[in-house]
Amino acid sequence: MRKKIIAGNWKMNYTVSQGEDFLLSIIDTINTDEVDVVICPNFTMLDRFSDLLEGKKVKLGSQNVYYEPKGAFTGETSPYMLQALNVKYCIVGHSERRTLFGETDEMVNNKAKALLELDMSPIICVGETLEQRNSGEMFDVVEKQVKAALKDIDKEMVKRNVVIAYEPIWAIGTGVTATSDEAEDMCKFIRKTVLNLYDKETAECLRVQYGGSVNPKNAAEILSKEDIDGALVGGASLKNDFVSIVNYE
Ligand code: PEP
Repeated sequence: MRKKIIAGNWKMNYTVSQGEDFLLSIIDTINTDEVDVVICPNFTMLDRFSDLLEGKKVKLGSQNVYYEPKGAFTGETSPYMLQALNVKYCIVGHSERRTLFGETDEMVNNKAKALLELDMSPIICVGETLEQRNSGEMFDVVEKQVKAALKDIDKEMVKRNVVIAYEPIWAIGTGVTATSDEAEDMCKFIRKTVLNLYDKETAECLRVQYGGSVNPKNAAEILSKEDIDGALVGGASLKNDFVSIVNYE
């Protein structure tokens, strides 16, 4: 049985003190062992949140990482730096990074590998544009992203730590959610892709999230689907709605 994982992507929102105030207002209401709960604040908050989350159920996640261990990479953050702050999860390949900052499939793969080497979990985002869905290309697009992201990654690492988030770009921040059947079909397809790349056991271990305008009203239905193992939540994770999503049942 796969444990569900619900992660909040705060994106570029909140100063450290605003983020701390919000975190402290919700932290003790999230006390579940049923679901893995992750908060991914901006880099500037990671140090402070690492202390605040000590001994709490909520795990710390990052929104990005660079794949080199150290060196002349101005403005970047290495996996070791994240590990030192007790970061357990890291979003890679979010569509905003792919489209606004030129993150390629190859970079996503390098980032995933660098995180896995240090026993951290990449949350690998994949998903199609509206045009790609309308032209029926969505399965090809997502299959290519999944295969590229997992290139040369050992199956034990996939089983232990990889999370894939299916995030149709047209559903991110738009208030338009994929239907639970559309989301389930693609999450099932992602699992099948991983089965073909590795084996049944690996595919069964893999956790596949859905992301795209998840809110307290649609969470229960989406999360009831067999192949959807959690949610990656953007806008709603900045509000008390996140607690309602975590307690979706
Ligand atoms: C996201 O950016 O990962 C996301 C899912 O955003 P939203 O929930 O706001 O659509």
